[in-house]
Amino acid sequence: MYCKQQSPNCWRTCIFAALKLFAMQNLRPYNTFGIEAWAASFIEINDATELRRYLVKHNKHAQPLVLGGGSNILLMDDLQVPVFKNNILGKKIVWEDADAAIVEVGGGENWHGLVLWCLELGLGGIENLSLIPGTAGAAPIQNIGAYGVEIKEVLHSVEAVELASGRLRQFSASDCRLGYRDSFFKNEGKGRFFITSIQLKLSKRDHRLRLDYGDIRRRLEETGITHPDICAVSEAVTHIRQSKLPDPTRMGNAGSFFKNPIVPLEKALRLRELWPNMPLYEQPNQQAKLAAGWLIEQCGWKGKRVGNVGCHEKQALVLVNYGGATGREVWALATDIGASVAQKFGVEIAPEVNLWP
Ligand code: FAD
Ligand code: NAP
Repeated sequence: MYCKQQSPNCWRTCIFAALKLFAMQNLRPYNTFGIEAWAASFIEINDATELRRYLVKHNKHAQPLVLGGGSNILLMDDLQVPVFKNNILGKKIVWEDADAAIVEVGGGENWHGLVLWCLELGLGGIENLSLIPGTAGAAPIQNIGAYGVEIKEVLHSVEAVELASGRLRQFSASDCRLGYRDSFFKNEGKGRFFITSIQLKLSKRDHRLRLDYGDIRRRLEETGITHPDICAVSEAVTHIRQSKLPDPTRMGNAGSFFKNPIVPLEKALRLRELWPNMPLYEQPNQQAKLAAGWLIEQCGWKGKRVGNVGCHEKQALVLVNYGGATGREVWALATDIGASVAQKFGVEIAPEVNLWP
């Protein structure tokens, strides 16, 4: 920082600017898109008591943002509000009988690490959710789901701190109002809570294996497994994911950028008449789920690169950062993709990724 005037006021300004820069945190290592943006204040939270104490002491600061593994956010700009990084660890069994166990997990625990720990203990229910990046605390936010299973099926309760008051709150599974990639925490509860721990109720025996989704059964057959257990299912899911999805440590991405659209069944069937190969999954209440990836692919985006960003060559739902992209570049591509899907099919696709700020 070079100062031409060298007046006392100017020096003071420069020193303040330097101190501010020093206090700022580059968020590039903290988001799987690998986008550079700075946080004016970055606070690592190691336990719920520390968080509550902090909130009481600094009760006037702007509404903070809660960061887990940064695998479902798109940084559009620098952040002037404080960022609370969830580092709350710990996992233990808090209840069990002959058939099931309830595990309590710190919100900052790595999700896949939790899956592996449960497998080691012989606990079933989340094996299809293997290799999903991010933290346990973020899992209820969008009701994580993959290969026909959602956390909704095993979530027992959630403990959270209300950011405005520092109060500890307990949520039952039904309070969380989990839906398809959706929850209370994405609606009325948005930005209001820091999830400090979750409890999952998992099976100890007679596990209900879910094999009829995607390529799970085919992968098990390929590996000669005729009587799969929960570990075999986890390995199959892990293998399929590794062969299909870009590894965020090599190529920045946040998984599926868009949610699959849910449309009235009648509309879906009319589209099917025009595009007989279009995947269509019937839902309750005369609704149907369309595969956003397929719609995007039909618009010619799969594998297409625009500057530093692009649509992944193996999975059109995943937008990637080839290096040096800004959040705005990713968003511009997403907007163009959404517009072409709307024009071709008359269907709106909404982002699954959370835009920050
Ligand atoms: P972040 O990205 O840090 O945060 C996401 C949102 O949750 C933010 O709004 C944040 O404020 C909020 N949040 C995070 N933690 C807390 C907390 N403790 N309290 C309150 N709010 C919080 N998702 C799926 O559902 N299924 C998949 O199969 C899947 N596959 C993926 C594959 C790849 C390669 C990638 C990169 C992502 C994938 N995702 C998938 C998306 C993502 O991994 C999940 O949504 C995950 O739960 C996000 O966790 P996170 O800790 O990284 O959250
Ligand atoms: P895929 O198996 O190629 O399937 C494409 C789409 O069709 C998926 O989005 C899936 O919906 C839907 N689908 C497939 N079989 C279905 C069935 N039997 N019933 C209902 N819907 C069905 O998908 P993929 O991209 O390889 O991903 C595999 C799984 O991992 C999917 O469940 C996907 O959601 C999950 N995943 C999620 C993310 C993310 O960031 N959210 C990233 C990667 C993978 P659903 O998405 O509703 O399951």
